[in-house]
Amino acid sequence: MNIRKTKIVATIGPATSSKEKLTDLINAGVNVCRINFSHGSYDDHESVINSIREINKEKGLNTAILADLQGPKIRVGEIENNGINIKNGQELIFTSEKCVGNDERVYISYKNFPQDVKAGESILLDDGKLNLRIKSTNKIDEVVAIVEHGGILSSNKGVNLPNTKISLPCLTPKDLEDLDFALKMNVSWIGLSFVRNARDIIELKHIITENKSTAKVVAKIEKPEAINDIDDIIKHTDAIMVARGDLGVEIPFHEVPLIQKMLVKKSIKAAKPVIIATQMMESMIENITPSRAEVNDVANAVLDGADAVMLSGETSVGKHPIEVIESIVKIINDVEKTDLLYNYEYPPEEDNHDRYITDSICFNSCRLAQRTNSSAIITMTFSGYTGFKIASFRPKAGIFVFTGNEEILNMLSLVWGVKAFYYDKFVSTDHTIADIKYLLKKQGYVKVNDLTINIASMPITEKGQSNMMKLSYVE
Ligand code: PEP
Repeated sequence: MNIRKTKIVATIGPATSSKEKLTDLINAGVNVCRINFSHGSYDDHESVINSIREINKEKGLNTAILADLQGPKIRVGEIENNGINIKNGQELIFTSEKCVGNDERVYISYKNFPQDVKAGESILLDDGKLNLRIKSTNKIDEVVAIVEHGGILSSNKGVNLPNTKISLPCLTPKDLEDLDFALKMNVSWIGLSFVRNARDIIELKHIITENKSTAKVVAKIEKPEAINDIDDIIKHTDAIMVARGDLGVEIPFHEVPLIQKMLVKKSIKAAKPVIIATQMMESMIENITPSRAEVNDVANAVLDGADAVMLSGETSVGKHPIEVIESIVKIINDVEKTDLLYNYEYPPEEDNHDRYITDSICFNSCRLAQRTNSSAIITMTFSGYTGFKIASFRPKAGIFVFTGNEEILNMLSLVWGVKAFYYDKFVSTDHTIADIKYLLKKQGYVKVNDLTINIASMPITEKGQSNMMKLSYVE
């Protein structure tokens, strides 16, 4: 059975929040549903999460939920007549005191803005469509800027400050409330927006652990500071998202393609899943087919080796959410036919004493699978570690993870190529291997005379580090 390797993350919104639409999305191929805390109420989110859980139960699936925290997103306030036309060369005052904006002054949702900025820095509004340069600040409550590229500014538009060292905390009071809700709902993944450095991840993980949750963290890379601290961020996070929307405003947009490639490469090497996000099938918000450039963008993300591609407006508010998934599945399936995608070689680090044996087993299971053209690499794991590690070598063989830990079943749906199963019978190594191979054969994932590789920890009852590999035929 051909299992798609590259996973699909779909943002849920008004176009897809009913149980019927969620069922259609999941049937079409969505592996992870993203709840965006920038929009919607807790009641909306709770109803979506409950529907996904019901669908998982009804269909025996492990669709994961990614709760995406808004982070310190800066916005202008309400604007009179819901829009003003700001003109090149004019001055505009940004004030940290609440007011209804007009073509002289607008409110900015960042209290310390006048203290943090310096003359000469840029202000970008509405995804960089409008561009201003700071002339002066009174260091108390007002900043004067000159419009360099004007246009219509309407209420609540986003503000990007690519050169400013922003003193806002990474987790705002709203994020802390949203996080509390997400942890209570027991979601698998928490996304953190506008990550600036590894400390942001450590702080979030500390709160998750304090709440006795096992939720994992996706660091959204969308600030230049994050690029500068990327090695440490990847070390501390569980996954990253290349959040190209804000990233392409915060850094020159033409630098994004190579940064995307660099981020994918580093993440795979560290065995951390990487999601490529934003505008992948943007034209399908309106149209029934994607543009040719979008088809190539998705294909290139798959070729880069991304674990997942993500849809935002296409599935949350678009006119054709199900067709978007059907189209992206077709693109992925065709690209995955090329051998360019498989068999990465990152020999295990010899100084990783904690995991050296497991890492060596995972690495060599993939080499052996390639050499023998095995159809499956099967691992038993409690933490999921071997699932992440095997996937990082991008084997062509199917990656089947058996676990008695229900917490990781859904979480693994984000990981490249991984198909997870609940399994809690650990009698003896030989018995368990035979039983699991029988289950995979019964479900059509392997067939008689296929070679399979089993990874396990011996003795199996101790559930220790993986230290054993077995190559055998399916009978
Ligand atoms: C992005 O900026 O690309 C992104 C994914 O973030 P959000 O959708 O939260 O703005």
